[in-house]
Amino acid sequence: MRLLLIEDEVRLSEALAYILKKNNYGIDTAYDGITGLEMAETGIYDLIILDRMLPGKEGLEILKEMRKKGIHTPVIVLTARDAVRDRVEGLDSGADDYLVKPFSTEELLARIRALSRRQGEVLQAGPLVLGSLVFDPLKAEIACGEEAVKLTLKESMILELLMRNKNQVITKDLILDKVWGVGSDIEINNLDVYLSYLRKKMASLNCGVVIETVRGVGYCLKEG
Ligand code: CA
Repeated sequence: MRLLLIEDEVRLSEALAYILKKNNYGIDTAYDGITGLEMAETGIYDLIILDRMLPGKEGLEILKEMRKKGIHTPVIVLTARDAVRDRVEGLDSGADDYLVKPFSTEELLARIRALSRRQGEVLQAGPLVLGSLVFDPLKAEIACGEEAVKLTLKESMILELLMRNKNQVITKDLILDKVWGVGSDIEINNLDVYLSYLRKKMASLNCGVVIETVRGVGYCLKEG
């Protein structure tokens, strides 16, 4: 899982990033609202922890803009205030949960686990489609017209990531983090092997969708 933390208090941000890394989450940090929004809009994060009071752009503004652009990443809002009105405002802006400062790290970790379970259920609903390629993550199967091919678990996880970010370049590091977990010792060469199997299976369906290699960066799934 890759998390984005948007928090301007450097010491708090560093402490949270440290704890989250220790708990095997991949974590990126932004210290102001404008950078935070830019990063959030990449859509690559599984969850965003968002402070309300930020320089550049307020937390709830970021949330509204994200949701308007169709980014549905779960968001936990951090707030220093605890008035009922603030909670309602936060949830109305599209937050999935909120935490009132100061909070314990156990509490934050519990909220992250709860939200990622919820997200998992949502994510698994229904097949993903690009052109004539239909991918069903639940069955780990790709299909084109009448023909279908089974994928292995890892192939399925890689393709799901690419399908959810179609027409965008996904870095090799991100694939390694998401599919094998942060800090795993799998090598990039192994990833190339998985990709070549996946490509062969896709090519056997003649679906017209290809995984392009972007040299030195990563991969991009698109209609060829
Ligand atoms: Ca703040």
